[in-house]
Amino acid sequence: MNIKSNTYYELLDAMKERGCPVCLLLETYTDKYIDNLLYESVNDTNLRGRLIDSGGFCKEHSKKLLRFGYRGYALGISIIYKDLMDAYYKTLNTQGTLSSNRKCLICEVLEDVEGRILEELVKNIKERNFYQIYRDSEGLCMFHLSKVLTLSKDREISEIFLELTALKLKELSSQLSEFIRKQDYRFREEPIGIEADSWIRAIEILRLK
Ligand SMILES: [Zn+2]
Ligand SMILES: [Zn+2]
Repeated sequence: MNIKSNTYYELLDAMKERGCPVCLLLETYTDKYIDNLLYESVNDTNLRGRLIDSGGFCKEHSKKLLRFGYRGYALGISIIYKDLMDAYYKTLNTQGTLSSNRKCLICEVLEDVEGRILEELVKNIKERNFYQIYRDSEGLCMFHLSKVLTLSKDREISEIFLELTALKLKELSSQLSEFIRKQDYRFREEPIGIEADSWIRAIEILRLK
């Protein structure tokens, strides 16, 4: 029997939601990771050591931490930032410079997770049920499409992703036209349809990073 991984089932679920399924899974994973980092691992000295080596968090994940802070995680944040603060203080005082190896801990963890998700996607796309659910999903954002194309060594698999993405882009382009058309005062009375949030989906799907 062909046993499927958790990621396989998570992808199937994510493809039924809105937006790029890979972005969605990474978002969910990030939240879980931060929750764990701030809540359970504040006393995990191993993890705190890794955090100090990494130098902290990038801009995007710092913003995310801030939102967690406002939601009741201020203690966890204070504990790990006190560590970081003292480490920076010490380094600056003794070495007068900063290590160039600093890299956001969350970004680093996410790179691995993202790699696993993309491999699973490429591996299963020819499977009938999986393909059909992907076909009916909103598809990959351009950032993840380009990663999938780099990863896939099989021309046939690349074609599947390219073809489906082309269809999605064309569909979204028509919806944007419809949205723009209905902004005209002559057509303002017409009821708004599926194009209502096309501009939101456009921002999401064309993201570069
Ligand atoms: Zn994406
Ligand atoms: Zn980051």
